[in-house]
Amino acid sequence: MINFTVGPVQSSDAVRAIGGEQVPYFRTSEFSELMLENERLIKKFAHTTDDSRVVFMTCSGSGGMETAIMNCLTRDDKALVVNGGSFGERFVELLTLHEIPFTEIKLEAGKALKPEHLAQYEGQGYTAFLLQKHETSTGVHYDVDLVGNFCKRNNCFLIVDTISTFLCDPFDMAEIGAGVMITGSQKALACAPGIAVMALAPSALERIEKTKCCCQYLDLKLALKNMERGQTPWTPAVGILRQINVRLKEIEAMGGAEAEITRCESLAKYFRDKLVEHGLPFEIISESLSNAVTPLHPTTASANDIFLKIKDEYGMWICPNGGSMKDTVFRVGHIGYLTTADYDKLIDAFLDLREKKFI
Ligand SMILES: *Cc1c(COP(=O)(O)O)cnc(C)c1O
Repeated sequence: MINFTVGPVQSSDAVRAIGGEQVPYFRTSEFSELMLENERLIKKFAHTTDDSRVVFMTCSGSGGMETAIMNCLTRDDKALVVNGGSFGERFVELLTLHEIPFTEIKLEAGKALKPEHLAQYEGQGYTAFLLQKHETSTGVHYDVDLVGNFCKRNNCFLIVDTISTFLCDPFDMAEIGAGVMITGSQKALACAPGIAVMALAPSALERIEKTKCCCQYLDLKLALKNMERGQTPWTPAVGILRQINVRLKEIEAMGGAEAEITRCESLAKYFRDKLVEHGLPFEIISESLSNAVTPLHPTTASANDIFLKIKDEYGMWICPNGGSMKDTVFRVGHIGYLTTADYDKLIDAFLDLREKKFI
């Protein structure tokens, strides 16, 4: 199978090899060093300030989202949240569950975030802002500089979910002034699922110190204390943390985050150019694309039928959408261990389906 989904994605051979090894004991100086190296490379690739910290939580990306809210926000906050798809909706649900007062900026599927969406909230006493830098469900890449500047003017604490855009699109945490950045092991990090990576700026460390977290397992005070020596309070997903280490060093050796972003960008461009070249009956639904994924509306067939056909008859996974978009949208990812030759096979499959009048 060739995997064009947005996670879990294909891993490099070196990362996969770790998956076949025995999981080592981890209360050792060797494992601590590996964790501190992971922290150093994440800080470098996310362009954090020197005094920022990184924690690796054993949970999926959504666990990282909830951890950020539980440890950094309180009922005294007044939050703004952008909801342009299912991941924005998840932030809304989490804020509701944890009883954090908030206002929702609801955007139609596929629409970009514009200055006029924020204008009415200037000077209204908002204290926090939650944003997906890339709303993966609809493939919309939001203008994080616009939000960062709003937050600076209004003294808002910014939590950015970069789960599907970290290492795919440029991101400078220090310049944007974000307090928390969240990513996951199975997106562009291209490892097995199970680890949420969180970069925490000093503004976040201050909030964490003052906030009582109502969940022991996800308490960042404990995670930060242990991470001072490269450890975790509980047994982490040791094997995945080792995969992350191999992967981060691979990226470093190949030219760092910028080189990886360029690689992702060129794969996305290759695929998008081929769609146009062959006049395939798919429309791009996003006003503002990320390099991570191409969201497509097929104009002549059901998106889910195409997903099933490509999976069952051509041995490839494209990424189906759920809910109301099940039949109208599918996505093709550009993250993980993919090559232009893989995209040629996908394009050939689409051409074959057109030949057979399926699309
Ligand atoms: C994948 C994703 C998540 C959720 O991650 P899980 O690992 O499935 O919990 C959250 N936000 C965005 C933007 C994502 O792409």
